[in-house]
Amino acid sequence: MSQIDKPSLSTMSVWAGEDSLLWQGATQVPVVHSVSFGYEDIETWQEVALGKKSGHIYGRNTNPTVAVFEDKIRQLEGAEAATSFATGMAAISNTLFTLLSPGERVVSVKDTYGGTNKIFLEFLPRFQVEVALCETTDTEAIEAAIEQGCKVLYLETPTNPTLKVLDIARLSEAAHRQGAVVVVDNTIATPINQKPLALGADLVLHSATKFLGGHADALGGIVCGAKPLIEKIYHYREITGATLDPMAAYLLLRGTKTLNLRIRQQNESALRIAQYLQAHPAVSQVFYPGLETNEQYALAKRQMQGFGGLMSFALHGGFEAVRAFIPRLRYAHRAANLGAVETIVGVPATTSHVESTQQERQAMGIPESLIRYSVGIEDTDDLIADIEQAFTAIPQRLSSRS
Ligand SMILES: *Cc1c(COP(=O)(O)O)cnc(C)c1O
Repeated sequence: MSQIDKPSLSTMSVWAGEDSLLWQGATQVPVVHSVSFGYEDIETWQEVALGKKSGHIYGRNTNPTVAVFEDKIRQLEGAEAATSFATGMAAISNTLFTLLSPGERVVSVKDTYGGTNKIFLEFLPRFQVEVALCETTDTEAIEAAIEQGCKVLYLETPTNPTLKVLDIARLSEAAHRQGAVVVVDNTIATPINQKPLALGADLVLHSATKFLGGHADALGGIVCGAKPLIEKIYHYREITGATLDPMAAYLLLRGTKTLNLRIRQQNESALRIAQYLQAHPAVSQVFYPGLETNEQYALAKRQMQGFGGLMSFALHGGFEAVRAFIPRLRYAHRAANLGAVETIVGVPATTSHVESTQQERQAMGIPESLIRYSVGIEDTDDLIADIEQAFTAIPQRLSSRS
């Protein structure tokens, strides 16, 4: 295959999927605000409705703008098919409820996203689905749990907010020996930094709300994989109705054009900031897989092309130090989000794990005073200077290290 048939990720971010819906010479994909799609003759209508001919019938099922977004992400993930959702949580819950039936067992880890953890602990057990949540970094324990029976292996890597890394290739092999379907939440890494399908997973899903869209102005979710699996998940969604809105699809599509540029900048910036934090006396711990001192650095380096824009760190002086530090940052939104062009800071107790109790957070190894820092596309030196000046707001008595 020549270069032109195998474009790089930056070229794909811009062009993939775009050419299918250009109207009257427009260079941009139109936002098709139409609930239904009409046909002059009944035969064509029927063929489209039965899926024998391409086209759209009703907006809960499919929409032309939404289809372009699905196609772009599908190509970026190197998948055969994709289907989208109103939010990331809709993608996750619809996927799990499509794949699991009463009496079956799902294996996952303790530190999945807070909402995902709720699906595992609160909703799936009500349908008699057995849920086994393992220690996230204990690969042998996960393999042992898989061997005791597994219909679905659900992974999220790196995890939010402590950036633990799971071995996708090794765990996929173990799951496939049991005939399980392997699902990976690739929200934090994005297809620029990690390709779960190439590593052996069957399905890769995203909260498109985060890095894919990148501008914190639209919610969305997407699942990519082989056609037979995606068709089943699409069917569940078309009936239960958590459909992506065409306007949101357009915003996500526009955001994704700069995905490769943004992620490259965020990878570079995050690594430098993590190194700066690690050397700073006010900081007690830094969680970032790109640090050579990180226990999982070798694994992260093997399965990721970049380490991503998300990190977390703990301060000496506990929550009181956090309360002094966070309000003083100038270039950071204090908000429950991540993956945007602006830097965003939060504590898991009010962001990713607001759905969890303090006890549940403790069980997941999330310190109450942990700060999650999602690096935007600002100048790296400006961000470091900003953190530096905010550290001076921490009262001396708190930062006196023992
Ligand atoms: C935000 C997030 C989700 C949920 O996505 P929504 O679009 O908010 O529903 C799922 N997984 C991860 C890793 C996330 O960061």
